[in-house]
Amino acid sequence: MYTYYISVGSNIGDKQGHINLAFQSFQKHDAVSKVISSSLIETDPWGYTEQDIFVNSMWFCESILDPHQMLCLLQSLEKGAGRKRHIHWGPRTLDLDIILAFDEGGTMISVCDESLTIPHPYFWERTFVLEPLHELLPTFTYKGVTIDDRLAQLNLS
Ligand code: ATP
Ligand code: MG
Ligand code: MG
Repeated sequence: MYTYYISVGSNIGDKQGHINLAFQSFQKHDAVSKVISSSLIETDPWGYTEQDIFVNSMWFCESILDPHQMLCLLQSLEKGAGRKRHIHWGPRTLDLDIILAFDEGGTMISVCDESLTIPHPYFWERTFVLEPLHELLPTFTYKGVTIDDRLAQLNLS
């Protein structure tokens, strides 16, 4: 059994609608349990800024799926929302990224290969990831820095 924190984003069309539909399918999936969603927040685009604002949130779940199997499930949900990949960091109906994964003993899992990097390579730089993560995991600490301190640093810069 694994636990996952999954970042959710949408900035095309009915953003909340895309997210809500995907959340319902995710919750119903046999291999996934104890699904929780953070609140939805509106955020400015990151990386490629000439695009509409985003709606972002964070999902928590338990799952028997290993990280690559989870990536596959998330990509099928992205496809279901009509996701097309054009511009790197560009507009999208739905983006589902695995941010953190833990094994049964609560140890953080690291993965780094051509299809998957966990922890997500930019998560510690992104307030749109850390704010919803903070809601679900307020005591999280990464490389000796608390998520509170990291959010304070990012909000000052
Ligand atoms: P970013 O990953 O910087 O947020 P993005 O989400 O826009 O960018 P995508 O187009 O959604 O990027 O995904 C590109 C590829 O990233 C995917 O095909 C997937 O194989 C890979 N990838 C690597 N690590 C992860 C991860 N932790 N979660 C989701 N996808 C990942
Ligand atoms: Mg992303
Ligand atoms: Mg992605």
